Amino acid sequence: MAPHSILITGANRGIGLALTKEFLKNKDIGVLIAGARDPVHADELNKITDKRLKVIELDINCDQSIDNAVKVIEAIVGDNGLNCLVNNAAVSVPCETKERTPREKIIEQFQPNVFGTLILSQALLPLLQRAASRVQGDEFSISRAAILNISSTGGSVTMNTAESPFGGSSKFKILGYKATKSALNQIGRSMAIDLLGDNILACNWCPGWVKTDMGSQAAMLEPHESAEALVNSFYKLNKSHTGNFYDRNLEAIPF
Ligand code: NDP
Repeated sequence: MAPHSILITGANRGIGLALTKEFLKNKDIGVLIAGARDPVHADELNKITDKRLKVIELDINCDQSIDNAVKVIEAIVGDNGLNCLVNNAAVSVPCETKERTPREKIIEQFQPNVFGTLILSQALLPLLQRAASRVQGDEFSISRAAILNISSTGGSVTMNTAESPFGGSSKFKILGYKATKSALNQIGRSMAIDLLGDNILACNWCPGWVKTDMGSQAAMLEPHESAEALVNSFYKLNKSHTGNFYDRNLEAIPF
């Protein structure tokens, strides 16, 4: 069953925009709330005429923006609560390999990828709990209540071997980004355990290597290909999946 309400962060471009379009193909979805730092200039989102799409201002680096957004989201979803939060927004700030990584470049990546994602998820918990409490029984699904974190296989410590294409960090170039995704994976697993009693599902995802501003045009997948596979996998989730880390095709990735 489709969730009645969905929030996607960083929905104005890249994978977030593709996920928005993919979810809207499902006529059973009641409302899709698309977070953008600058909604006025979110041109691709603003071209979508579907009345179920609500574009809201949301900068996950800013607590005030999160608080304002939660009020707007509550006004939209009301007593139904929020069924599905997709934590997609993130940055990657590659560092010059010859210099010592500047502290601020590491912090710049941790701000949205870890701190903002955690704080937003916590701020939305009452609305997720409200949605979950409207369903009887022990079901876990994205139509009941779910937190879906868009992570990266680069965040897997197990896959980080000398033999693996995911090994190392190009001589520290992407080490900060990889560390943010490892931290996000920890958050996803911990939240899943903490929220078992609330029947709120939480999973981490790798979208694949995707042609976006972050992934570059050299990447393997078009955004719509990644989004289609991800959304198909999201619909299949149940209690057995909560706390785990998956690729877009629902194949498990080791932490
Ligand atoms: P893009 O760089 O294309 O888009 C990132 C999105 O995040 C933009 O909408 C951006 O908004 C938004 N964003 C960044 N910071 C904030 C913030 N503080 N508050 C709100 N929104 C913010 O990235 P992708 O679409 O490629 O990546 C989406 C997700 O997929 C990320 O989590 C990324 O780590 C992950 N991923 C991507 C891969 C790839 O190959 N592309 C591979 C593995 C994982 P704005 O336009 O305002 O900057």
